[in-house]
This record gives sequence, structure tokens and C-alpha cells, in this order.
Amino acid sequence: MALRELKVCLLGDTGVGKSSIVWRFVEDSFDPNINPTIGASFMTKTVQYQNELHKFLIWDTAGQERETFSTLKNWVKELRQHGPPNIVVAIAGNKCDLIDVREVMERDAKDYADSIHAIFVETSAKNAININELFIEISRRIPSTDANPPSGGKGFKLRRPPSEPKRSCC
Ligand code: GDP
Ligand code: MG
Repeated sequence: MALRELKVCLLGDTGVGKSSIVWRFVEDSFDPNINPTIGASFMTKTVQYQNELHKFLIWDTAGQERETFSTLKNWVKELRQHGPPNIVVAIAGNKCDLIDVREVMERDAKDYADSIHAIFVETSAKNAININELFIEISRRIPSTDANPPSGGKGFKLRRPPSEPKRSCC
């Protein structure tokens, strides 16, 4: 079975639950007293997706600011300008278990995600809601490595070399 490495970088403000999402995905556990990330941390997890193994290489960063939804838009701008062209952007609306203190309406986040063609899921690292689904969605969106991409893709056909090569002059 083919093994593909998918690089994932978690971006977002301190305290939104990035490390908890990684911890839930990789270890399937939740630590309410998780230590703040210093600098960055790195973890991996391999899961089967269709007929491939996807090894997620996850970089978890330490954010600084605290205005989550507007900072998110700045991150997306940066990624579009400086990131690789076929990058997959996924937005996790984390802590969806805290229904009484919701800060961003689901509709607003979904509309924004649609406008930038990003994945959007509301997650809870605490209650294990949509964490696996988030990564499965990333697997689904990663461009396939098929030798024969479906027609309409951006590939190009290799032409057969002409049977009689042109002679060069002189
Ligand atoms: P990070 O700074 O973005 O890496 O955030 P952390 O993973 O360190 O989490 C910050 C705080 O939010 C910690 O106290 C976590 O226990 C809490 N937290 C993380 N995810 C959730 C969640 O889904 N629900 C709730 N209620 N708390 C969470
Ligand atoms: Mg952290």
C-alpha cells in the first residue's frame, strides 16, 4: 500500500485548542491541564485512506494573539500569498462543546470557509467531536497521485515522439 506524507501546520491563537486537537487525534485523549506550547511541537499519525496510508506530519505552533476569527483571516491571507499553490486549508471551530459562550456563529464561519474554498468543521477536542473527521476531510481534499487523473484535471498528455525525427539542417 502506498504511503503518502501529508504536512499539516496548525495555526491560530493561544488557547483555541490546537495542541488539544493534535493530542485527541494522535493519542485519543484530552488533558484539561495541557501545558502551553513553547515554540512548536511535532507529532505524527498514520491512518488508512482508501488504498493509501496517509502519514500526517503535524506541526503545532505557539500562537500569540487572541482575536481568533479576525486573526484567522490574516493567516489565510498569508497562506494564499506565501504558501504552496495546492495547499488545503481547513478551519476548525473548536470548543463546540461550550455552547453557552459561543463567539462565532456557525453560519458566519461556514460562509467564510466556503468563500475561500476551505474545509470547515466545528470540533471539540474535549468531547472527541469531529476531530477524526477533520483529518479525513484533509485526506479527501489532498490532490490524488493517480497516474491517470480524471479528465478535466490540470495534467497534460505526453505525445508520442514523431516516427521520423526531423533532420537537422546542414
Ligand atoms: P493551544 O494554545 O491552541 O494549543 O490550546 P490548548 O490545546 O493548550 O488548549 C487551551 C485550553 O483550552 C486548555 O485549557 C484546554 O483544556 C482547553 N480546550 C482545548 N480544546 C477544548 C475543547 O474542545 N473544549 C473545551 N471545553 N476546552 C478545550
Ligand atoms: Mg498549544
